[in-house]
Parts: sequence; structure tokens; C-alpha cells
Amino acid sequence: MTSPRRTFAIISHPDAGKTTLTEKLLYVGGAIHLAGEVKARGANRRARSDWMKIEQQRGISVTSSVMTFEKDGVTFNLLDTPGHEDFSEDTYRTLTAVDSAVMVIDAARGIESQTRKLFEVCRLRSVPIITFVNKVDREGRSAFELLDEIADVLALDVAPMTWPVGMGGTFEGVLDLKRWSISRPEGDSRTFQGKVDAEPILPDEVREEVELAQAGYAEVDAEAYRNGDLTPVYFGSALKDFGPAELIAALAQYAPPPRAQPAEPAPIGPEEKEVTGFVFKVQANMDPQHRDRIAFMRLCSGTFKRGMKLTPTGHGKPIAVHSPILFFAQDREIADEAYPGDIIGIPNHGTLRVGDTLSERAAVRFTGLPNFAPEILRRVALKDPTKTKQLRKALDDMAEEGVTQVFYPEIGSNWIIGVVGQLQLDVLISRLEAEYKVAAGLEPAPFDTARWISSDDAAALKEFVEINRSALAKDRDGNPVFLAKSAWEVGYVADRYPKVKFAATRER
Ligand code: GDP
Repeated sequence: MTSPRRTFAIISHPDAGKTTLTEKLLYVGGAIHLAGEVKARGANRRARSDWMKIEQQRGISVTSSVMTFEKDGVTFNLLDTPGHEDFSEDTYRTLTAVDSAVMVIDAARGIESQTRKLFEVCRLRSVPIITFVNKVDREGRSAFELLDEIADVLALDVAPMTWPVGMGGTFEGVLDLKRWSISRPEGDSRTFQGKVDAEPILPDEVREEVELAQAGYAEVDAEAYRNGDLTPVYFGSALKDFGPAELIAALAQYAPPPRAQPAEPAPIGPEEKEVTGFVFKVQANMDPQHRDRIAFMRLCSGTFKRGMKLTPTGHGKPIAVHSPILFFAQDREIADEAYPGDIIGIPNHGTLRVGDTLSERAAVRFTGLPNFAPEILRRVALKDPTKTKQLRKALDDMAEEGVTQVFYPEIGSNWIIGVVGQLQLDVLISRLEAEYKVAAGLEPAPFDTARWISSDDAAALKEFVEINRSALAKDRDGNPVFLAKSAWEVGYVADRYPKVKFAATRER
């Protein structure tokens, strides 16, 4: 018997406390022994790789990682999502690999823009959400105001599970509304050890608040939560250790185990014998000296065993996976076995791509991992013309990783790259220099957006291609792409060529 799995991500706006909460979850889960280790380790690792200096300079998390820990017989896989809006594409893909999410909100700020965007992605994928209202040890908005905002803005039922007793200077602890117990801070906050009072003596105004809340808001309902109609809400302070333990217990109790994943010809459930999974992220080796990549695969069915041969659907021969990586929070470990819901890292030399389905032998393909039409296009200007080959290799590599997209125009030799956010451009230039020793600059492109084109009518497509050749390009995989000067032009052209499809996303 394997332990149950909870594969989840934390979504939040920058600064809400995701890093702090992650650290505390790992701490409660026994995965790290010193608070503060996550950042320190992260910083060390980052310093080793050049292009990740950007990450340090900007103080944001560019890459997503996976951390696995166990608690009370449950295995938790926590997928870290990049919180910056520039990386919506990467973040989106990470959210395709989880079964649930924790939404962290700053008690003083409520729902912020990035939280909301990420929430919409979760809703699109029917990913259920547990809410953690953080920083109640500081002066924030009232619990009622926050609950109403969550309910209104996200159109969800809210079920408060805990209640802050006081806030800011009067903060006393968090009341568990089910067990009717309160954890209070004792000792200084750094070495805080929560203590549970069996019969809390509540100040009158708090007792009134709680009565109002219990009458006014929904009771927790596991099914409504799993359907994405209701969010259980926990109040707490990640910094002072109020709430992380309750949150882990809530994930164990309510969050869904690995679910069936959308695939063709039919969805694949975790109970199926055959090993299947999909790649949701590819990361270059942290060490720029090594060209290796790690493909992050979410296992969807079967029991994976080390050395097993997996075939990427649609391209390539079977790959024997001899050194799959598991991401225990302390360290990366070689995995002997992995189960549905687990993430394994597969080292490879660029064969595996984001969106790939891997399976023992079944002809299946997981769906719903799209490439997005870039919102920023730039022409790549090479400073040393003898480096054309290296540049092409670099652009192809980074397109495979999903860092940037690359378009090779039908006419002319000015290669064009596309990104969803500005920061990716900096990452590109910095990596070109550090890893590929190619000096290049970026210039404005005469285009503003791109669409993948296709048609059921070959003649219509041919006609379109001939007339618009100067705006046509091929992507990394040779698919035809129409480069447009504006979104308006896309609409205009689409009207004139009704038989041609202009897609803003492309699934591999
Ligand atoms: P992230 O950007 O979401 O990862 O946020 P961080 O975890 O880095 O936290 C942002 C800031 O808020 C840091 O200065 C934290 O120390 C602080 N912070 C995080 N959680 C709490 C909390 O529960 N209470 C208070 N007072 N500060 C917090």
C-alpha cells in the first residue's frame, strides 16, 4: 500500500507570504529542521547559475520547483508556482499538474491582481482551493470584510474554519471553529510553540463575531469544495506559525487525491495499470556548464519503477528512465518508485518537451497544455555573424524549455522571438551570453502578435500563405504562424479568410 497523495500548489500575489508559508509547511512536515533554510538553500543554489542572478536582483521566483514531504501517513507534493505575472504561461502549466491549490491572501490587502488571475486559471481547470488569510498578527481588515470580498470577487461560497482572536496589537491567537480550541502565542515569536487551550475564554466581542460568522457563512462541505464551488478559509500567520499545521491537516482531510486527467482518446484515471504522465516543465540544468535538462513529469497512472522505458507519444523512441529524480525537500533523490500524483524529474538532452505525454505503450495523449500566443515580439540582432548556428541552437533550446518562443520568417533572416512577459526577454539575453557565448541584442519587430494557422481546406490555406508570405513564419516545430501587426489585424484577416483558423494557443 502506498500512502495517499496530495499534489498542490500555492497561489498568491507577490509579498503575501508564500515563501514564508512554504517554509513553515515544510517545517511542520518535518522536511526541514531549521526555519529559514528554504531561502538560504535557494539563494546558494541560485548564486551558482548566472542567468538566475536576474531572479535574485528582481527578488522574484522565476522557476518553479517541486518539494515533497510526508506527514501523518500522507505524501504531499508541493509545486512552487512563479508568482510574477510575467510568467503566467509557466505558472499556468504548473497548475495543470496539481490536484488542488492553497490561495494565500494578505489580511491587509485582500484579493490582489495576481491572486485573482491565478484563481481564474484554477477555475478553468476545476482546481479546488483552500484559502489562507495570512498576517493576522498585524493590523488588517476585519475577518468579515475579507470573507465577503473573497465571496464577491471570486464568486465562491466561503466557509470560515478558524477565526482570528484580535488582530495586530490585540492579536491573541486563532480559534478553531470545529474543535473550539484556540492556539495562543507563547514565548517569543521565533521559537513559538503553539499551545492549545481546551476551553478558550473568549472576549465577548469575539464570541459575538464568531456567532455571527457561524450563522452567516456556509458550513464546510467537502463535495462543494472539490467541485470548486466553496473555499474553506483559514486565518493565520505564517511568520508566527499560526495556521500551517491546520492547513496541512485540511489538505489531508479535504483536498482531492490524484484525479483523472484530460486525455485523448479518453481521460486517464490514477487506477489504471499502465504508467502514463505528462511533462509540464522543462528546466535547464542549474549549472550552466551542463547542457542537460530536467523534464518535470506528473505521473498520472500506474506505478513507475526506475529503469522503466517510456515513450513520448507522437515522437521518438522509448526512453529508459534510469535516474529519475524525486524532490524531497531536503534533497533530490533518485526515485526507485513513484505513484500517481508524484512528480519525477527526468534528465535528458532535449528530447523531452513541455506538453509531451509519456507512456509505457498506450497510444494516449494528455491534452490541455497549450502554448500561448506571445504578447511581445522582438527581432534578434546577432552581434557576431559567425555565431548563427549557436544562436539557432540556443533559440531552439529555449523554445523547447518554454522560456521563449521562436519564429523563423519565410522571407529574410531576421529571427523573431516571442514572450508572454518582459522578464523573459532579460532571461533570454542573459542566458545567450552565459550559456551559449552568443552576444545578441533585441530590436523592435514589425509585428505585435502571432497566431498559429490551419485549415481543413488545403486550397484556402495555400491561397492565404501565398498572399501573406511576408507575414508568415514557422515555429520551432515547423508549424505555420501568421505574424500580425496588431490584434486588430488578426480580426481583419480572420474575417477575410473565414476558412483559415487563427489560433492563439497551440497544443502539442
Ligand atoms: P512571497 O513574496 O509571497 O513569497 O512573500 P514572503 O514569504 O517573502 O513574505 C513577504 C513579507 O511578509 C516578508 O517580509 C515576510 O517576513 C512577511 N510575512 C510573511 N508572513 C507574515 C505573517 O504572517 N505576518 C507578518 N507580520 N509578516 C509576514
